[in-house]
Amino acid sequence: RKLRRTQFTLDHYSQSVFWLSLPELRVIDVNPEACLSLGYGKEELLKLKVFDFSPQMSKEMAGKFAVEIQTAKSSTIESVHKKKNGEEFPVEITANYIQFEGNPYVVAFARNISARKAYEAQISKSEAEYRKIFENVAYVFYEASLEGMLVNVTPSVERLTKYRREDLIGKPMEIFYFDPAVRNSLLNALYEKGEVLEYEVDVKDIDGSPIPCSLNTRIIFGEDGKPERIVGSLSDIRHRKQAERQVRQLSTALQQSPVSVIITDAETKILYVNDIFTVFSGMKPEEIIGKTPYEITRGQVPLKDYNDLWDTLKNGEIWKGELEYVRKDGKKVWLSITVSPVTDDKSQSSNFVGILEEITDRKIAEQNLRKAKEQAEKSDHLKSAFLANMSHEIRTPMNAILGFSSLLKEGDMDQEQSEYYIDIINSKGRDLLRIISDIIDISRIETGDLYIKTEPVEIFSFVHEVFAEFKEDAQVKSRSNLQFRLNLPDPARKVIVNADPARLKQVFVNLIQNALKFTTDGYIEVGFEFQENNNMQFFVRDSGIGIPESKKEIIFERFRQIDDSHTREYGGTGLGLAICKNLLDLMGSKLSLTSAEGQGSEFIFNMKYIKTESPDESLEVEETKLARVNLDLKGKKILIAEDDGSSYIFLESLLKRFSPEIIWAKSGRQALDLLNNTGGIDLILMDIRMPEMNGLTATREIRKTNADIPIIAQTAYAQVTDRKLALESGCSDYLSKPVSPVELIHLLAKYLV
Ligand code: ADP
Repeated sequence: RKLRRTQFTLDHYSQSVFWLSLPELRVIDVNPEACLSLGYGKEELLKLKVFDFSPQMSKEMAGKFAVEIQTAKSSTIESVHKKKNGEEFPVEITANYIQFEGNPYVVAFARNISARKAYEAQISKSEAEYRKIFENVAYVFYEASLEGMLVNVTPSVERLTKYRREDLIGKPMEIFYFDPAVRNSLLNALYEKGEVLEYEVDVKDIDGSPIPCSLNTRIIFGEDGKPERIVGSLSDIRHRKQAERQVRQLSTALQQSPVSVIITDAETKILYVNDIFTVFSGMKPEEIIGKTPYEITRGQVPLKDYNDLWDTLKNGEIWKGELEYVRKDGKKVWLSITVSPVTDDKSQSSNFVGILEEITDRKIAEQNLRKAKEQAEKSDHLKSAFLANMSHEIRTPMNAILGFSSLLKEGDMDQEQSEYYIDIINSKGRDLLRIISDIIDISRIETGDLYIKTEPVEIFSFVHEVFAEFKEDAQVKSRSNLQFRLNLPDPARKVIVNADPARLKQVFVNLIQNALKFTTDGYIEVGFEFQENNNMQFFVRDSGIGIPESKKEIIFERFRQIDDSHTREYGGTGLGLAICKNLLDLMGSKLSLTSAEGQGSEFIFNMKYIKTESPDESLEVEETKLARVNLDLKGKKILIAEDDGSSYIFLESLLKRFSPEIIWAKSGRQALDLLNNTGGIDLILMDIRMPEMNGLTATREIRKTNADIPIIAQTAYAQVTDRKLALESGCSDYLSKPVSPVELIHLLAKYLV
């Protein structure tokens, strides 16, 4: 009955229950759950023994179990059950030993533990994973006692230091540190703040070398508030350190690089410039950072270049270029620029890096080289032009000489004709001589063989002499619409200059000859004027064809002419100015030029006078010179129009010695009247500034009826416009005031003799 009741209870029990015989472990009875879980019918099960459905249990094990259970009375084991269909599942079996009606039995409860097993498997798997993580992380976690003994440490320590975990546990913490003293300072900080974060420390490798690590550590307090132990972590920062060092190296390199570096963001706003850029640009970093390159270049770089630059960069390519750039301080420089895009991991341009190098010196060198090359080519061309030219210049007089001398040889001509031929031969011979001496001069200048012998030269008489020689020259005399004149300051003194008179004369002769060559009408004016500090400026001016701006330099070079072509209108070797320039150089002076094309040229050079002699003496010179002039104006009538009495007396006393009849008009109006009412006036000296009617108006009035009478204007020396106006109004010539006796006499001779 008792069994029955038990039976009833077991029938409804959720675990499998097996009645087993001992010691065979044969199934005597089972509950429905047992049949269900194993997939057998009850009848089938009752024919089996335990090891038929419990594959792990061998016969020997079953035997042992049967013995054990009798003493232990109860035992729980894990095993495996096998269903009728062969499937296996884990079970937990609790076996109880019972005596029933004098016989021993085992009642075994079996519980399917598949779910638990699966869960356990999962746990142990994730445990293994965690372990793996701990063993492999770069972090080492440790726990230490307050006394500084290592209590525990993660296996990852082996990877970091190559010490085995087991060998470290129980050892003093010092073993960790490359510099054991570090521990003390660490402990101090730890006690002060309770924790230490991101502390950089060198941990010691097993072989003694330092490993840079970052350390975090703190004190763990017990429930009673007392410090209990220390926990911490170490992480290997070798890579970070290395990267930091690399960054430091790179940024130092950038910072100290001799080329300028600019880094912008993707919107081209400047993020970084190195020192040299700020020095080079003259701008402070705060004036640059955050701006775009376009903004800081103040619009200097043409937009076209910028567009080209961004187009290139947008295609992910590197842009290279050279630009001329005016720096903030106004200095012009050449830059070589390279800009490259920096792409992020999505291949988008995240930054742009610009490298600027100043290449001004290189550019200048390049330009010089190019110039030198062009110069060499030009010289070559010039040499051929010169040779062609020279042969023409030599042949022309040579042909004349040969031609006329053979004519002479034929002999049947009169005296006059043969003299004419001889004159030609003579003059052409001199032309040849001049060419030859020019060539010799220029070659001596080039070889440095030309020497200057200076001596004191009285400059007034020197210039007078040069002038007088030309004045008598046939070339000058024959040109009626060309006025050749001297323009000197008031000769109240003798002025001495240290110069080589022959060479100085050569300069004047050359300049005057050029002026004659390039001036058909108008004037040629030779002279000098005094300037400050013992300076005097000599000039040869003309109203000729002038010299274009572009040629102002080159005409001073040897062989150079404005017209280098073989079909030149004007003859010449192109040596004259080069020789003049060099001669003046040797005398410490410099030849320069002002000119307006079509209006004339002015060649000037300066010299210092070394002393002046007393005015009386110099007047005497003038006087004695005048005394020597034998000009006879007897029977000539000269009208002096002059409002100022003393000026009139001066002119009168000068003229008196040549015995003309002199009439004085005190205004322009009076001059007009006197001319019309007094017959036979030969020449008028006309002052410009006069009351009633000025000299210019008077001249114009006179010219209405009288085109021929010579009218010589007296103009204030400095008034260049007055002279021009005078000539335009119809004056034949002019004299600068104060009037130079010599000039006056020259003019009187010109017009009255
Ligand atoms: P050249 O023997 O050809 O005259 P120069 O050296 O004296 O040689 O002059 C060089 C060139 O300079 C001339 O060929 C001419 O083109 C120009 N030149 C010199 N003087 C004058 C001037 N007074 N007016 C215009 N051109 C001039």
